[in-house]
Amino acid sequence: MKIVVERVTKTFHDRGGRDVVALGQVDFAVETQEFVALLGPSGCGKSTLLNIIAGLLPASAGRVYFEGEPRPGRAPVTATVFQEFALFPWRTVRANVELGLEELGLPSPERSERTRRYLDMTGLAGFESRYPHQLSGGMRQRVGIARALAVEPAVLLLDEPFSALDAQTRTLMMDELLGIWERTRQTILYVTHNIQEAVFMA
Ligand code: ADP
Ligand code: MG
Repeated sequence: MKIVVERVTKTFHDRGGRDVVALGQVDFAVETQEFVALLGPSGCGKSTLLNIIAGLLPASAGRVYFEGEPRPGRAPVTATVFQEFALFPWRTVRANVELGLEELGLPSPERSERTRRYLDMTGLAGFESRYPHQLSGGMRQRVGIARALAVEPAVLLLDEPFSALDAQTRTLMMDELLGIWERTRQTILYVTHNIQEAVFMA
């Protein structure tokens, strides 16, 4: 098992002092190379769960195991693609994708090689020197995906990655993400509020 989520609970305290139970005893597992969709309406706790899995937010109770270990054994364990394209506007496409690799401390030739490989995989060859504002929404989200894949995370987390896109682009991007998964067998946890999308993807 790549990830095991065990009785994860999250309670937020809102400003009025009331408790908001965002997650109540959630259990599930994701196997290595599996593509799993998490489906639920807005506000049901999907992003909260992804953030806990990514280690960005502590759970109130319960645990997340990676490959049997309670703590990530080796970095990087996860990389997240957000709904809003979280790109750095002052960096080119190439520099946005390289960013995560700089943080990993990869030597420069390896960074360049990996960046090129994932830009090719996501259909961004030829767009390396553009800036985010020069790209369509779909192209920007390709950069977000390339950046997350380039880190070669144990688990790729996608939080409603295509919901800000128009219907046609969304369908295309869904197909392409499945194509990438077929080639790489990257373990994926995919969050959506769209039933058809969850069924189609997972
Ligand atoms: P989803 O991603 O499924 O739309 P979220 O995980 O964002 O849902 O939110 C789940 C619930 O937790 C919602 O009721 C939301 O208002 C609440 N919540 C999320 N983050 C916070 C926070 N930082 N403080 C208080 N309540 C929060
Ligand atoms: Mg959300």
